[in-house]
Amino acid sequence: MPAALTDFSRMCVHTMTTKPLKLDEAIAAYTKEGIPGITVWRQHVEAVGAEEAGKMLRDSGLKVVSLCRGGFFPATSGTAREEARTENRRVIDEAAEIGAPLVVLVCGAHPEIDQQTARQQITDGIHSIIPHAKAAGVKLGIEVLHPMYAADRSAVCTMDQANNMILALGSEWTGLVVDVYHVWWDHFLRAEIQRARDTILGFHVCDWRVPTRDLLNDRGVMGDGCIKIREIRGWMEELGGFKGFIEVEIFSEECWGLDQTRYLKRLKNAYLKHV
Ligand code: ZN
Repeated sequence: MPAALTDFSRMCVHTMTTKPLKLDEAIAAYTKEGIPGITVWRQHVEAVGAEEAGKMLRDSGLKVVSLCRGGFFPATSGTAREEARTENRRVIDEAAEIGAPLVVLVCGAHPEIDQQTARQQITDGIHSIIPHAKAAGVKLGIEVLHPMYAADRSAVCTMDQANNMILALGSEWTGLVVDVYHVWWDHFLRAEIQRARDTILGFHVCDWRVPTRDLLNDRGVMGDGCIKIREIRGWMEELGGFKGFIEVEIFSEECWGLDQTRYLKRLKNAYLKHV
């Protein structure tokens, strides 16, 4: 088990964690709390436009860790798959414009497409946008999603599937995003983190509430659930070679209803205590 973190130098917060805050408000709040990293969700960019968002972020001095999110490659027609690729190239451009070195991919799934075919469509889709990513200097991070989302959000549901995909893609412009919410239950998590060594681009933390009341927006603050977050961080660092930002990503109707400034202080405490 690694030692507790003693400062916030690796802490990053997703703008979706503080969803009620507009981008400028989130920037001001994170800065005030001494949180150095920010991962920006597209809806927070869209509200002001990428150019303005990029200017605000550069002026703030915050480190933009990633842009969430691209992906959703599988579709039932070739036209729709091509549209998805075009949209992903747009996301890459947006990332470059706001200074994000990484686009997180929620890879997609479709209830009418079997999982293996969907994964092939994802691999093909990512393969086709790698030249664009390379030209923009933006990496593509494949995020594994919990299998409860397999029907319509992502056919990449295990670390094993993601590692196989990264191996098949064989590009330094693609890598893995590990979110404890999606992978904590996996018997092979430790081994797959080791296998992913030096291809891990992102690390998301939150907790799994028991019981979970809603499959989308009931994530817990670190320490409020059953995930052994610190143990997983230890594997990420020792076995995965990961030394990057630790991103607090919590979708929670309950927490969005709180005073967001007080909530950020609570997240900082939870970060030191449980991450
Ligand atoms: Zn995540």
